Amino acid sequence: MKLTCIMCPVGCQLEVTKQGNDYVVSGNSCVRGERYGKQEVVSPTRMVTTVAKTQTGFVSVKTSAPVPKQRVQDVVDEIGKITLANPKHGDVAIKNILGLNVDVIVTSGK
Ligand code: SF4
Repeated sequence: MKLTCIMCPVGCQLEVTKQGNDYVVSGNSCVRGERYGKQEVVSPTRMVTTVAKTQTGFVSVKTSAPVPKQRVQDVVDEIGKITLANPKHGDVAIKNILGLNVDVIVTSGK
């Protein structure tokens, strides 16, 4: 599998091949790329960054850790259901969203 490493702006072009029970990553310039390449073929995850409604507008939010890639839309939909009252930077907007052991954190505001 060929993919672009998204762990930093360099964007190394990775190739991940199966060898026995493991995967071998080439094209990476550092160990983060190796970890990303293996993770991407075994169980891809993504940080979710979006906005949440407040009583006066919107604030930026993000997940406290990556979530399974196939659950990203579910997470965005769940965040879309809430309206925050007077959110502050660093507040937990949603604890343990969808039982994924990940919180949604406010990243803008006062
Ligand atoms: S392999 Fe390392 S240097 Fe290359 S894009 Fe990934 S994190 Fe950046």
